[in-house]
Amino acid sequence: MKKNYNFSVTLRCPVCGSTDIDLSEDKTYGKCNMCNKEFPGGYDELVELNQAAIDAALDGKKSEIQKDLENELHDRLKKDLRRNKNIIIK
Ligand SMILES: [Zn+2]
Repeated sequence: MKKNYNFSVTLRCPVCGSTDIDLSEDKTYGKCNMCNKEFPGGYDELVELNQAAIDAALDGKKSEIQKDLENELHDRLKKDLRRNKNIIIK
């Protein structure tokens, strides 16, 4: 597959919804720049708080990948069957 299925979810502050969150270098501490909410659990805590958004993004990706796979399979079938003159694929 040629497509890149990487995706990213922007972590949001659960208090104010801002994405302007500072993380310490080792990601063990975070702080929202909008409402000054602190995240002593750092990155892990933010991921946990954003789990619903991450799951939703993953679900979206899943159906996208599935659709691409189906298209690819259909194209391949089409090519294979083109050699067979008795079968017409629309
Ligand atoms: Zn905030």
